[in-house]
Amino acid sequence: MTNRINSLSESITIAITTLSQELKAEGKDILSFSAGEPDFGTPQVIKDAAIKAINDEHTKYTAVDGVLPLRQAIAGKLKRDNGLTYEPNQIIANNGAKHTLFNLFSATIEDGAEVIIPAPYWVTYPELVKYCGGKVVEVQTNEETSFKITPEQLQAAITPKTKMLILTTPSNPTGAVYSREELTALAKVLEGTDIMVASDEMYEKLTYDGEFTSCAAISDDMFQRTITINGLSKSVAMTGWRFGYMACADAELVKATKKLQSQSTSNINSITQYAAIAGLDGSADADIAMMKKAFIERRNEAVKLINEIDGLSVLKPDGAFYLFVNTKEVTNDSLTFAKGLLDKKLVAVVPGEAFGCPGYFRLSFATDLDTIREGIKRIEEFVKENY
Ligand code: PMP
Ligand code: GLU
Repeated sequence: MTNRINSLSESITIAITTLSQELKAEGKDILSFSAGEPDFGTPQVIKDAAIKAINDEHTKYTAVDGVLPLRQAIAGKLKRDNGLTYEPNQIIANNGAKHTLFNLFSATIEDGAEVIIPAPYWVTYPELVKYCGGKVVEVQTNEETSFKITPEQLQAAITPKTKMLILTTPSNPTGAVYSREELTALAKVLEGTDIMVASDEMYEKLTYDGEFTSCAAISDDMFQRTITINGLSKSVAMTGWRFGYMACADAELVKATKKLQSQSTSNINSITQYAAIAGLDGSADADIAMMKKAFIERRNEAVKLINEIDGLSVLKPDGAFYLFVNTKEVTNDSLTFAKGLLDKKLVAVVPGEAFGCPGYFRLSFATDLDTIREGIKRIEEFVKENY
């Protein structure tokens, strides 16, 4: 095997979720808070669009970047929700946003190019950047700034080799949402440089407090340098359908990733493409509102219960469906903490080490309230009995 593949780590979030599914299948009473996946079904209007696509015989190869009505629907969404104007040739549909990131890094990162990644980060970024030959420049954030990178930190991390900054808003794993003012301050630091911004806006629709702002909407300068990455996995519970996309001012960059896609995966699933239109054009808005309401209720309950546990604490996340729980009063070794919790209490969480931030664990509240209450009760028992 190549050194490149040997140095790639498996996705820890997927590994833990798979392990908890296997243990559950063996009959163990596992409560899983590891999955980055809504527990809701895909909205009926989207399923109906998929069934119609099959019956209409949309079952053949399509354009590599997606059928025109899909790219128009993405452009329509970006205009309506984010105030961004993209033409269909500035947009490409991929097999999930993870695939978008892979294509983007493959097309832009030369060997040794530096990519600034604020930590805690989503597991996949550093692995893919390294896989594509880039050098990860990790910038550790903390609770004082709600885990958001500051302009000073960004400035200090920039070198002549800096190629890209990855921003995630709302964040996985912390749920932090950057305000317009915060993004504007970061944008100022980038002015006059040729640094690209990969803006992962996957949890946009799950913004509970504050207002969501797209990086590309900050200024014309930011529009030019930002690659907007989004999808439907989280907002309309379509994780298994595999749909993500990128949009950027530079149509040549879109073309470059299209070339790569033409030689690797080709177009994304044709049926998913037609289903995705119904997820983008407003048809599923009532479903999105219903899920968002449920997530807010779960978040509030989970935050309250965790903060009642001696030795644990958590900031209230403004978006996404994760709590990033501080364990530092009891231990900095969250890997051992998470292993023990699974062994002794059958509760699956993801240790902060996966996100470049030991001393924390990630708890997904994309599950029902009873499970949340029972799971947090077990976490409390675990802390009392072991620390
Ligand atoms: N970005 C973030 C921040 C995520 O949490 C995820 C979820 N796995 C993705 C991208 C990729 O999602 P998908 O590949 O399902 O579109
Ligand atoms: N993004 C989700 C998570 O963070 C799904 C798992 C993955 O793709 O790594 O759990």
